[in-house]
Amino acid sequence: MTARARAVTFDAGQTLVELDTAMLSRRLAERGLRVDAATLDGAQPPAWRRYEQTVKDAGHEAPWQIFMRTLLEGAGVADARAVELAAWLWDEQPAKNLWRRPIPGMFELAAELTARGVPVGILSNSEGKLAELIDEIGWRAPFRVIVDSGRLGVAKPERAIFEHAARALGVTPAEVVHVGDSRTADIDGARAVGMRAIWFGAAARERPEDGDDVAIAAEAGAVRAALVRWGVL
Ligand SMILES: [Mg+2]
Repeated sequence: MTARARAVTFDAGQTLVELDTAMLSRRLAERGLRVDAATLDGAQPPAWRRYEQTVKDAGHEAPWQIFMRTLLEGAGVADARAVELAAWLWDEQPAKNLWRRPIPGMFELAAELTARGVPVGILSNSEGKLAELIDEIGWRAPFRVIVDSGRLGVAKPERAIFEHAARALGVTPAEVVHVGDSRTADIDGARAVGMRAIWFGAAARERPEDGDDVAIAAEAGAVRAALVRWGVL
């Protein structure tokens, strides 16, 4: 790899922000269902594994609803009810985004990069309202661009969305480091266009191989260390 890495894109869900299970619990209560946040947290690992199996070539809506249905079923909700609730939550998602709990240190890292003159963007499979959410939680400033599949009409892992993000940051794909949690959508997608990638997440998720163009990071400090190693910071 010859190009020097000099720009960074961050995935949003489970990278900058995570599923707010307390909010999900409140939303379910509005529909007469009592499921506490801890139960929902416990049901996440199998739901994420199911997501990984569906995200390739399936866009955003179908994998999202399958994730949510699997999560609810894992938390003890009956199948038919889980299907109905997942569809309702999907319809509500643009206005009441459930992925809004900041992951410790990640927005701060984006702000540090921007302060150092590094072009930084968000590159997310989302519902077309991600910029509004980032505004709402007070973190819009560090990002030169927010690429939202729901606006662009192309979703990760398709090449076009990665190429679009690099262009928007004024660099080539080979100059970008993409940080994300999904093996399929983020890591495989980024590497296919020549980006370096930082796989972010807990050990329970499917791991890529660590290598010259991939780093593995379980928390923000390890993401920062990989960016230092590649000369971005
Ligand atoms: Mg994600």
